[in-house]
Amino acid sequence: MNTENLKLQGFCLYPGVYFVGNERVSVHLIKTEAGLVMIDTGYPDMLDVILENIEKVGLSVTDIRAIFHSHGHIDHFGCTQQIVKLSGAKTYISRIDNEILNGTLDLSWARELNYPTLPPFSCDVLIEDGDTFHFGDVSVRCVHTPGHTDGVMSFFITLLDGTVAGMHGGTGTNTLTSDFLRRYGLSFDCRRQYKESVDKLWNEKVDLVLGNHPEQSDTLGKMVRILNGETDVRSREDWCALLKETEGKYQRIMETDPE
Ligand SMILES: [Zn+2]
Repeated sequence: MNTENLKLQGFCLYPGVYFVGNERVSVHLIKTEAGLVMIDTGYPDMLDVILENIEKVGLSVTDIRAIFHSHGHIDHFGCTQQIVKLSGAKTYISRIDNEILNGTLDLSWARELNYPTLPPFSCDVLIEDGDTFHFGDVSVRCVHTPGHTDGVMSFFITLLDGTVAGMHGGTGTNTLTSDFLRRYGLSFDCRRQYKESVDKLWNEKVDLVLGNHPEQSDTLGKMVRILNGETDVRSREDWCALLKETEGKYQRIMETDPE
């Protein structure tokens, strides 16, 4: 099969784990005995592509029971309200980043990044650090890893066969630049938190990395490998590589853009 010019599309990353986002941002589905669990919902204009991808992998949007959000930026909750309408799913986000969704926090910076504004809403379940949720035999453990936003949650999902799928919920340093922090009167402390979060995540054992954005852990490359017949793309080294890359981003911002 010629896989050279393939674009990222919906595919099964591992039994029970599906990528249904696009090249801009990840959206994942986890199949459980209690229905589908979705992680993040993309930009608001991504509903059609997400629905197409869900169909492509042989699943149904009406089976989604839970939607988890890694953090409160529009590229991770953009289609939430639309998917809730179609599925009746329960929604989850950290208590801290729910303040972004419900409009309590000032989002003027988001307009600067050309993020559209959405009608405010609140999630049903406000996650705290260490919370674990069970869906049949699958569990989702949430670890608070602030920095990119104050309420970033990383997810560690234990599948039926014991495989742990892990996601660092926010590695972008776009919200840590001195220019950005000064302009909005935000504390430089988020940089220290970002580094502390990476340090904390070194304790996790992850068999399968779920990229918060698809360039993390080469989601496209994994899709191509799977289309070429590879049956198991799990690797513990991928998690270490992601954390090293995240540490590198932190180092670069500290060296090139000091306070
Ligand atoms: Zn973000």
